Amino acid sequence: MLTGRRYLLALTAEQEEFAEKIGDACRTVWNTALEQRREYRRRGGFIGYVEQARQMAEAKKDFPWLSEAPSHTLQQTLRDLEKACKTHGTFKVRWRSKHKSAPTFRFPDPKHIAVERISRRWGRVKLPKLGWVRFRWTRPLGGNLRNATVLKDGGRWYISFCVEDGLVASVPNGGPPVGVDRGVAIAVATSDGQMRDRKFVTPGEAARLRRLQQRLDRQKKGSNRRAATRAKFARLNARVRNRRTDFLAWTANQLTRDHGMVVVEDLKIRNMTASAKGSPAEPGTHVRAKGGLNRAILAKGWGGLLFSLEHKARYNGSRIVRVPPAYTSQTCNSCGHCAPENRESQAVFRCRACGHQANADINAACNILAAGLAVTGRGDLAVGRSAKRQPPVTVAA
Ligand SMILES: [Zn+2]
Repeated sequence: MLTGRRYLLALTAEQEEFAEKIGDACRTVWNTALEQRREYRRRGGFIGYVEQARQMAEAKKDFPWLSEAPSHTLQQTLRDLEKACKTHGTFKVRWRSKHKSAPTFRFPDPKHIAVERISRRWGRVKLPKLGWVRFRWTRPLGGNLRNATVLKDGGRWYISFCVEDGLVASVPNGGPPVGVDRGVAIAVATSDGQMRDRKFVTPGEAARLRRLQQRLDRQKKGSNRRAATRAKFARLNARVRNRRTDFLAWTANQLTRDHGMVVVEDLKIRNMTASAKGSPAEPGTHVRAKGGLNRAILAKGWGGLLFSLEHKARYNGSRIVRVPPAYTSQTCNSCGHCAPENRESQAVFRCRACGHQANADINAACNILAAGLAVTGRGDLAVGRSAKRQPPVTVAA
């Protein structure tokens, strides 16, 4: 299996300037080649990678800045573009804007990349034209190198190595199964009664983000001051994002290490977050309320958690089971009675039939576990019975 390893780069001032240049060249190649593809399509024709790569090689004679960049990174940009056009359609692929898209470029050939560890904390990698660049050695590479991507994120430069880890499947760890509810108020609640959550933004940071946003709104587009504010904004956002990634990886690692099976709800996050606005013909309802919910969902990183779980499960000998999200928050885990009134509040669940009382998210996690055991044929099938007692579909705003 292929997996990514990301390290913080320590570029010298010259290297940083050069990396910016390579990023600029790749962005220009992307945009020019995309416009060319669109122009061909408008006229009913088609141009593919091979012809574009040939033309780019020609263009190097007239544009010296183009031949300054490592040629493989430019070719890789054309390949990435071809893939993007095939997946999303030529007219849906986005432009790479100078301000909004951070520089990124890939060295596709491991033969031209050399990685060394030089001390306990530092490693270095030799890249075409950039030469030796140092990076913080925070973890072993753990496999055969396939390619390397240099990217800038939140004002810092990183290198991401794609490695083949040679791992097919781990031995099942034999731990007990667990159900996981991914909530809005609490990031993760488990059927064994644990809640995991973390604040990703401190109050001070939230205030600072607000102030920076206001300053951005006032500043003139394209001005240097605006660019400086934007950089500060990006740095702060990156810090918040790193904290979230860290939390998700940590949670996913613990869950898959301690449990042989992790059952999660198969929520269509894209659908849930995209639908609120609706279309001009059919405007959505409760746009504001849903907007808040969407932000909360995205802020807790549900998609990210699922991604992390699948990834860590491979290493920890666990398996991830997805079950459809049906009435898990309204059904009593003790007797199976299903009614919206069961959920007294965001936090409290109290069954109207049998009086069972529990934390609402943990009750839901228990239902998710039961559903997972039912589909894998390991549990009692009482959960299947409760499905017949479900009330008609009501849309929760
Ligand atoms: Zn009950």
